[in-house]
Amino acid sequence: MVLEEERQAVVDHGMRMVRAGLTTGTGGNLSCSDRVRGLMAISPSGVPYDALNPRDVVVVNLDGNLVEGDLKPSSEIGFHLALYRQRADIGGIVHTHSVYATTLACLHREIPPIHYLIGFAGPKVPVAPYGTFGTDALAHNVRQTMGADHHAVLLANHGLVAVGADLPQAFNTAEEVEFVARIFCQAQAIGDPVALGEDEMARVIEKFKTYGKQDNVRGR
Ligand SMILES: [Zn+2]
Repeated sequence: MVLEEERQAVVDHGMRMVRAGLTTGTGGNLSCSDRVRGLMAISPSGVPYDALNPRDVVVVNLDGNLVEGDLKPSSEIGFHLALYRQRADIGGIVHTHSVYATTLACLHREIPPIHYLIGFAGPKVPVAPYGTFGTDALAHNVRQTMGADHHAVLLANHGLVAVGADLPQAFNTAEEVEFVARIFCQAQAIGDPVALGEDEMARVIEKFKTYGKQDNVRGR
C-alpha cells in the first residue's frame, strides 16, 4: 500500500477532528503529502471519520491523477492540490466547518489578533471570497488568500482551512483558530475586543517558530 504512514495519519487526525469538536459526521476533509515522491493522501468523499480505515484514504499525485484507492477523493481535492503546488512548506492540510470559525466566515469577517494564539495562523486570519464547494473558483480563492505566509484562511459562507509542515501542525492551527474565533465572537457580544499590535504579533510568531520543540528529546 502506497503512503501507508500518511494514510494512517489521515485516519488518526480525522478522529482527532471529531473528538476536538471541529467537525461531525463526514464534514470537512484532510490530507498530507510526501513532497519527495510528489504524492498526496486525502480523505475520501462521504465516509464518516469513525468508519475510516487507511485503505479508504485515496492517494493521488500533485497533478490530481489517481495513484491508489478505490473510493472517490474528497470533493475539495482542488484546493488541497492548489495549496501543495503553491507552497513547498505545506505538508498537511485540515479543512473544517468548525462552528465559531464558520460563524465569522458567514459574516465575511476576518479574525484580528485579539489573542496571541492566532499567531499559529499568522498575524490574522483573512477571508477567502466565496466559491461554490468543490469548484476551481473556490480552489483559486483559497490559494490566493493563503498567499505565501498565512497558515489559515476562512472560507466565506463555508468554513476554515489550516495548513502546516505536517498534519499534526495543521490540526493544531485549526484548533487554535477555532479557539480564537470563539473568544472573538464572545468578546464582541460584551464589547469591543482589543487587538494586539503588529510588533507584538511579529514577536509572537517568531517565538512560535521554536515553541514546543524540545532539545535532547527523541521525536515520537
Ligand atoms: Zn467544506
